Amino acid sequence: MLVRPYFLTLLFSGDGEPVPVVSPDPGLEKEWSRGTDYYKVIAWERPFPLWLAEAICQELASLLTVGGRGRPFSPSKTGRIICKIARNRGWQGTGRWFEPPDRPVFPGLFGKRDSFARLLPQVLAGRLYSLREIAGSLSRMGLAVMEGALEFLVHLEVLDGRVERLAGVGLTTDGRFRCRRCGEEHRILEDFYPEAPLPCRVCGSCLALGPVTSLQPLYCRRGALLAVASPVSPKGTAQVSPGESREESPGESFKESPQENLRGSLGEGPGESLGESRQESPGVSSGERVQEPGESPQESSGESLLESPGEGIRQVSATSELPLVLPELTPWQKATAREVLAFWEREELRSFLIWAVCGAGKTEVVFFAIHRALSEGKRVLLTVPRREIAKDLGKRVEDCFPGLEFTLLYGGKKQERPGGGLVVATTHQLLRFTPFFHLAILDEADAYPYRENRMLTGALANALLPGGKLIYMTATPDEEWRRKAVRGEIGLSRLVLRHHGHPLPVPVLCKHPLPPAEAENWLPPPEVLSFLRQAGEKNRQVLLFFPTVRLTEKAGRALKNAGLLPAVDFIHSRDEHKDRKLQAFDCGRLQVLATTTLLERGLTFPRLDVIVLYADREEIFTTETLVQIAGRVGRSSAAPFGEVIFIGEQISRPMEKARLWIAGMNKEAEKLGFLKQGTSHGN
Ligand SMILES: [Zn+2]
Repeated sequence: MLVRPYFLTLLFSGDGEPVPVVSPDPGLEKEWSRGTDYYKVIAWERPFPLWLAEAICQELASLLTVGGRGRPFSPSKTGRIICKIARNRGWQGTGRWFEPPDRPVFPGLFGKRDSFARLLPQVLAGRLYSLREIAGSLSRMGLAVMEGALEFLVHLEVLDGRVERLAGVGLTTDGRFRCRRCGEEHRILEDFYPEAPLPCRVCGSCLALGPVTSLQPLYCRRGALLAVASPVSPKGTAQVSPGESREESPGESFKESPQENLRGSLGEGPGESLGESRQESPGVSSGERVQEPGESPQESSGESLLESPGEGIRQVSATSELPLVLPELTPWQKATAREVLAFWEREELRSFLIWAVCGAGKTEVVFFAIHRALSEGKRVLLTVPRREIAKDLGKRVEDCFPGLEFTLLYGGKKQERPGGGLVVATTHQLLRFTPFFHLAILDEADAYPYRENRMLTGALANALLPGGKLIYMTATPDEEWRRKAVRGEIGLSRLVLRHHGHPLPVPVLCKHPLPPAEAENWLPPPEVLSFLRQAGEKNRQVLLFFPTVRLTEKAGRALKNAGLLPAVDFIHSRDEHKDRKLQAFDCGRLQVLATTTLLERGLTFPRLDVIVLYADREEIFTTETLVQIAGRVGRSSAAPFGEVIFIGEQISRPMEKARLWIAGMNKEAEKLGFLKQGTSHGN
């Protein structure tokens, strides 16, 4: 990779101090400034890497506006300042000012602006994108832009004040490097280039989404980062207030106010703006209030469904155009749906926990709130930690919101619908967002890799607009959330009964000697084998959970080779055929699947039993994991029962706690008075 050069450019207008700009080519400013108030453009002949150009530009902006007031601009003094700042950062800075030549930088470039400027606002709606990501998005929308021209075209939008540019990794106000995509400050790696005296900084935390470096820019719509720091420029001519920019809808084009916006933008140090944007400011939240219930023309659409009795599949046509197709909800689902809607309407509540047993149908419940928010013109995010679940969720959204144009994003999938109000995405994809959503719903909120991942927690918080609301859904909330719910710090709705009304299968705990995990010829105990055979005879499928990838493979192969069972395979996260195998299990071609905790949640198979082997390995099989695994069984109303067996060399505390947790939920469900009785397979 070559170090892309960035120039410091000064724009002169009749009424004040020169305005410094970071430019990929000062010729662009020269051409752009025609027809504006700027009568002169000069540039420092020595280019800098982006992060340094950005840092110098910020210092210069504050010096020129604050320090230079009342005194005439001195080119030589300003040059010395540039040299000094560069030297302090370890970069050769000497040079001189020059006036860019009077010829087009890229012939025909300005002629291409129209279609580009029309699409870019849609591409950048709520996003923080690299040039490559912009190019990809544009080409999916049918506009191919040559790589060389793309940065120049985006730069013209920067000059017009509609777009902000940040070095992917740049300096904070206290001089540290920080990733502008994920906020990382510690895992910043150094990469050396022969032609550069200083290393390139690469973020080591969000590499999975493609590298972010100190030499390459990221772009977002201006004001999207909600810089709450007041602009350095005392003039503050046309600082687009965060509130203003948030009113824009994704499909709208950018606001027009060329030079003023350019001036206004200079005060925002990228380090500042990003750093601050991750916090909420009471100063900016007022513009972002969730609409009052009375203001909404579609106020009663969700309620009416919740109150009216009905049979089977119902179609609801709201007073808006947006249809919602859902299976008839149970009384207890309706109760939770009402509580979620009430949460959406009450301004003071910001977070809400839906604590629902596995198979309760919590997604359907939350679709009402989504429908309400979308009908009010709000933007909604539905996010899950894993790709497999995102895929499945995408299908359910398609079924329940027929005709809705929504964006679906997960590793390997980019179905962009600019202008649509709903985004379904894995949590990782949120790193590419600026604050954008009024409502974010996190399904499987305690699942790996979201759980205990600060970067993803930050990404979710950052994707939410100030004043936005957050709903967590899970069957196994961690202790902190349970505590917050008890204290009333977050809203809570419990869904203790499955949609079909039958109790959760309670795990059977088995203390049984197991072959050592290292054994060459590993074979499951004969009792397990005979269970698998009997399950096959009853036309039931079995998931066999193991604590490690090695054991899963070993056991899967052993069962296959032993020829004891016809259709056996194994699966784990590193398995490159996992999609194919899952499909085979899903359509019944496989009867037994040995698996790691990969399949602990998210997926539903109708006639299923599960066995957990080495269930006493507490570091893997925690209480929450065991509850989730047990929750795979008996989910369909056609076959609401099944066996859950935890086998360990001893009975661990998590095994015991998981059993009590599930039995406790059944007891609570019984109190509701809706619980159906019966606990056998019925076959
Ligand atoms: Zn990063």
